Amino acid sequence: MTKIRKSSIEMDKEEFRKIGYQLIDDISSFIDSIDQKPVTQNESPSQLQELLGNSSLPENGRPAAELMSKTTDLLFNHSLLNGHPKFFGYITSSAAPIGALADLLAASVNPNVGAHILSPMATEIEKQTIRWLCNFIGVPSAYGGILVSGGNMANFTGFLAARTAKAPQNIKEDGIQNTSNKLRVYCSKTTHTWIEKAVVLFGLGTKSVRWIPTDASNKMDIKVLETTIKNDLENDCLPLMVVGTAGDVSTGVVDNLGEISAICKTYNLWFHIDGAYGVPAAIVPKFNHLFEGIKEADSIALDPHKWLYSPLEAGCTLVKNPQHLIDTFSSHPEYYNFSNIGDDKAQNFYEYGLQNSRGFRALKVWLTLQQVGRNGYEKLISEDIELSEMLYDLADKHPELEAVSQNLSITTFRYVPKESANNMEYLNTLNEAILNELQTGGEVFLSNAIVKGQYSLRACIVNFRTSKKDIQEIIEIIIRTARKVHLKIFQAVE
Ligand SMILES: *Cc1c(COP(=O)(O)O)cnc(C)c1O
Repeated sequence: MTKIRKSSIEMDKEEFRKIGYQLIDDISSFIDSIDQKPVTQNESPSQLQELLGNSSLPENGRPAAELMSKTTDLLFNHSLLNGHPKFFGYITSSAAPIGALADLLAASVNPNVGAHILSPMATEIEKQTIRWLCNFIGVPSAYGGILVSGGNMANFTGFLAARTAKAPQNIKEDGIQNTSNKLRVYCSKTTHTWIEKAVVLFGLGTKSVRWIPTDASNKMDIKVLETTIKNDLENDCLPLMVVGTAGDVSTGVVDNLGEISAICKTYNLWFHIDGAYGVPAAIVPKFNHLFEGIKEADSIALDPHKWLYSPLEAGCTLVKNPQHLIDTFSSHPEYYNFSNIGDDKAQNFYEYGLQNSRGFRALKVWLTLQQVGRNGYEKLISEDIELSEMLYDLADKHPELEAVSQNLSITTFRYVPKESANNMEYLNTLNEAILNELQTGGEVFLSNAIVKGQYSLRACIVNFRTSKKDIQEIIEIIIRTARKVHLKIFQAVE
């Protein structure tokens, strides 16, 4: 290409090649040696600010090669590495390397996947990705949907479709304040915080949420659900939707989706499944029964950046009748010339969700689905679950540990020294102190869960790099750290 305009932002072919090759070399070494690094460096915000320096916006530009080499160093050596084989915090997976390449490619072509005309191939790839995700979790590919930034957005998208479908039609013009009956949504106490954001942001208010208690197995109590709905109907409320959780954040428990769907049918409510974490496990025959009823869902949220190992960000909403998305999000401003060419219907994703301009996040999901395939995913997810079960067994057998829960790939457990076995308050303080010590130590990264009032350590394994050896090793790390913390606190109290 002969360049007529000289732009400071352009890179010529040779420069891009050189910097790109170097970057790829550096990334491949980073990935190859990730297990040799600490999971986290435990640096304080001020230490990091010092590293960055507090200079103001650069007046003049600097060579890209120099910037890239400095930046790889900053990120490789001062990040928390969730791709480390001993990272088990929250629900953040290791990221498929092909996803990194996909993001580079997607950014290079830079399609705007808001409208077909602006992203012809990318739009078709996103449509195919959505169909494959339907196949993956076992719902008919007549479901439609959209990729979004993550689980929160995926749940919001389903929530808004439910509101359009089940609230009085006039709320579009009159607003929610003019509904004559109070709108209600139902979910179990284990539901992720997205529901609170949703009812605040979308005008229902936090009092619209009916928090249904859980039964002994930590699933939504269906009897209480039904009596609550009946009671609301008798009191001039308008029930809209029930949220079933498929893999709760703390312990991985899947609600009884079949029973929830039956209730939704009886009372004509929208059935939404928050499967952000757990729903990919439906691909494993042994666990498929947990997701019975999934085909009845009006909408489903899932998170490819969790158990499909996509790099952040990638969430997805699937809707049984995608027309509900269009009814909710579509508008046709005069400045859009996105109408269809002939009979061949062009899908414009801006009509399916909250975003207008949209990046090509489908590419990394699409490529990983092909690189791994159904069988590959079944194996990866089964292995994560097996590792989690192994951790539970090791904790159960260890005289100083108490295994608390194990569902899908989440295990919770506690350190219980003999002399304090009956001191509940101390055990909570102790385990919290142990977690803090572990999180800053850099050898392993766990998070916490409060299970039946007990502060527990929690490992969620959505990590294709973790091996049995890692699980054995983390038991040693945890015991060594726990003994040290116990000694310190116990002595201070004595
Ligand atoms: C992770 C998670 C969310 C939130 O997803 P983000 O991707 O963090 O926005 C919602 N619900 C459940 C069940 C989750 O596991």
